[in-house]
Amino acid sequence: MNYEPVIGLEVHVQLKTKSKLFCSCSTEFGAEGNKHTCPVCLGWPGSLPVVNEKALKLAIKAGLALNCKVAERLKFDRKHYFYPDLPKAYQISQYDMPVNGRGWLDIETKTTDDRLQTTAKKIGITRAHLEEDAGKLLHENIADGSLVDYNRGGIPLLEIVSEPDLRSPQEAYDYLTALKAILQYVEVSDCDMEKGSLRCDANVSVRPVGQEKFGTKVEIKNLNSFKMAQKAIQYEMERQTEALEGGETIVQETRLWNDAQGTTSSMRSKEEAHDYRYFPEPDLVPFTLSRAAVSEIRKTLPELPLEKAKRFIKEFAIPEYDAYVLVQEKKLAEYFENCVKEGGNPKLIAKRILNEFLAALSESKKTIEDCGVQPKDMVELSKLEENNTISSTTVKIVMAKMVLTLNSPAVIIKEEGLAQVSDTGLIERAAEKAIAANPAAVAEFKAGKQKALGALVGAVMKETGGKANPQLANEILRKKLSS
Ligand code: ADP
Ligand code: MG
Ligand code: ZN
Repeated sequence: MNYEPVIGLEVHVQLKTKSKLFCSCSTEFGAEGNKHTCPVCLGWPGSLPVVNEKALKLAIKAGLALNCKVAERLKFDRKHYFYPDLPKAYQISQYDMPVNGRGWLDIETKTTDDRLQTTAKKIGITRAHLEEDAGKLLHENIADGSLVDYNRGGIPLLEIVSEPDLRSPQEAYDYLTALKAILQYVEVSDCDMEKGSLRCDANVSVRPVGQEKFGTKVEIKNLNSFKMAQKAIQYEMERQTEALEGGETIVQETRLWNDAQGTTSSMRSKEEAHDYRYFPEPDLVPFTLSRAAVSEIRKTLPELPLEKAKRFIKEFAIPEYDAYVLVQEKKLAEYFENCVKEGGNPKLIAKRILNEFLAALSESKKTIEDCGVQPKDMVELSKLEENNTISSTTVKIVMAKMVLTLNSPAVIIKEEGLAQVSDTGLIERAAEKAIAANPAAVAEFKAGKQKALGALVGAVMKETGGKANPQLANEILRKKLSS
């Protein structure tokens, strides 16, 4: 039997506020332990929470970007459980009247191994509600006991719950990427997984293809990157399929991903699952959101990633795939557009940014924001390539130097002697060497295989350090081989 996975994701993002959700303590990351605490976030009796207006506005902004129905009336609820990082023994969250109700997210997903093939898909958002974060337990010197740091306790989180609409690990990965891009565009969160400002749990079940009813789901925690989420879902779907085929039943449980082993293992079963005993937070009365306030927030929404991609495709005629990758990072998309404004050829600029530029940035451990390469230099480089002053092989070298030194391409090419060689004498000598060293390719070419010439051109390029004008090399080789 053929099985298919059903996947729903729960994503927590930290909202970008200066102070916590219900008190005025700072949200500073990495401060000295327990520096940012007060009676409210430490859960002292008699202290009263007050809702942070900025956090509420950010939550609404995110909800609007996710096409959610923003609540007319909302309330907060207490979710009870005991854990040392939760001093009140309950978390203030939202249960049945969340700030954002049903919405959806449009994703572009890879449907085949061909990286250029993407398909649009709508993924339902069940809800996106506000809640406070818990503190952090530190088990560094476990022999002396554990420590608890309440700095994170009370920081505003938005929990975004998806419908079980995802059907492959790849789709889950694409959903997470699209979600992160949107949240960054609307500037509600920095979505930095390393700092824990974006966390995700995956719910996975499998069912025989053609069956409508969902199978029993398992929740996977400890997913520290989108790639890990993809791998864990893949593993889990294989595990469940195997179990069902072996006649076992799947038990509803929470499992932990072990990245080193590449497996999941049971953390707690449904019997041990919490009964949270939700009830309305008595210290925060339900309240009404004015439609005027919501439409004011709607006005602040920027052009969103997919809209931007569609515009790039239409205005600049760049390949769809390039457009979707460019817009995943706002800064990258803006950089591309600035280069086009400087007179760059959109197709070539997009290609060079996505390949050589990103490679050079990652090589030098710089980011698009701090690298300092001016769009006009990027455009100059592409012009030099277009008019054949340099070959595409040389572009890579110049790009790397440009990111390192911030010198203009002209200066780099001059200093490094990288200009393309159109000196026929030099290319002729390289061509003779290439012919002598590659008798097999020569024989193939003579036997009518045009493609074999490519290997010889490659050899000439190598011999000249990538500087030979490839067209000229091609002509000279042909002439020599036909004589
Ligand atoms: P719970 O009460 O266990 O938290 P929810 O109904 O709130 O369960 O769903 C939590 C997440 O699990 C959602 O993202 C939802 O899409 C997903 N989900 C629900 N049922 C299934 C299923 N059978 N298979 C996979 N995912 C599911
Ligand atoms: Mg849940
Ligand atoms: Zn506080």
